[in-house]
Amino acid sequence: MARNWASKKAATFEESVIREMSRLCAASGGVNLAQGFPDFACPQELKDAAKAAIDDDVNQYAITWGAKAFRDGIAAKVAATYDGWTVDPETELCVTCGSTEAMIATLLATVDPGDEVIVFEPFYENYGPDAVLSGATPVYVTLHAPDWSIDEGELRAAFSDRTRAIIVNTPHNPTGKVFTRAELDLISELCQRHDALCLTDEIYEHIVYDVEHVPPATVPGLEDRTVTINALSKTYAVTGWRVGWSIAPAEITSSIRKVHDFLTVGAAAPLQAAGAAAMALPPSYYVEEAASYRERRDLLCSVLADAGFSFRVPDGAYYVLCETGDLDPGRDSSAYARRIVVDPGIAAVPGTSFYADPSMGAGQIRFAFPKKLETLHAAAERIAKL
Ligand code: GLN
Repeated sequence: MARNWASKKAATFEESVIREMSRLCAASGGVNLAQGFPDFACPQELKDAAKAAIDDDVNQYAITWGAKAFRDGIAAKVAATYDGWTVDPETELCVTCGSTEAMIATLLATVDPGDEVIVFEPFYENYGPDAVLSGATPVYVTLHAPDWSIDEGELRAAFSDRTRAIIVNTPHNPTGKVFTRAELDLISELCQRHDALCLTDEIYEHIVYDVEHVPPATVPGLEDRTVTINALSKTYAVTGWRVGWSIAPAEITSSIRKVHDFLTVGAAAPLQAAGAAAMALPPSYYVEEAASYRERRDLLCSVLADAGFSFRVPDGAYYVLCETGDLDPGRDSSAYARRIVVDPGIAAVPGTSFYADPSMGAGQIRFAFPKKLETLHAAAERIAKL
């Protein structure tokens, strides 16, 4: 028998189902509401800046932890967006290959084998494998449907002296939950009591509907123990550029920078120049973006409700996590998603992908809506056939 070359770590998790659904969708010619990426153009300012950088021969490595103009831009945009939050671009920022690298680099830089990392469930697929790759043990805390609330007792019980960090994702993928100040205050209290870090993925920060996005780094008690992860990907519709960053106190940042350097050396230099242009976009860009997403959300939600799905309308991000109910009486969302991607040709992500125990998501499916209205109308025709 051939030898199995998989490492013990690699053997503990599977290929990403989110990315797999995109491939199945391409093969079947379906409409892709699975993987969360925009099908519309990015701002012209970013394209112009990227092209100009290549024409100017910005072809060699940027500074490992990020081109200065881009870091300065990120720091200025943070200060302009959130009262009282200042970031030192020289010591508190690390530019990475997308938020995916920012998260794994952060975990590798801050967590030791045997440490526990708290992850809210349902979760974005990457966090489990991220924890495993860093040697940590994930500890899951349920967000309870229908409003995805936290049970304070359960969260308190998850923290212990083994807890090294908690991963927060607000606005949250896949539920659309936006963490409230009260919830973040509780997380702050527990992180202080157990001397734990708050690792927060805020890639949907500007995609919120009628609620306030509170960055954990601005919550009293979390300022000195938070790593904020973000990227150009969602806010500027450039998921394939792979440009993200981490913001953290200088001491933590210096660990992240070292790990990042040996993982990837750096993100694409000409695209960091475009990132600087992105940071200079006016506030109206974000207002218009949120309004466009609201229109997409409302369209998809009404289509899904008409089809018989039940769900809580998301307060943020660009996903709707649905109960399949009578649409999938067998409650096997993995098989259901694989069936509907072929006929009627609509790709979504089975709920099983968002739980450590997949059976918890067997009656759920996630639809993404970062799409042109015409794409959502095409999806609507297919969803109506379910
Ligand atoms: N965040 C996106 C999703 O959940 C995908 C991100 C990715 O595939 N890297 O669909």
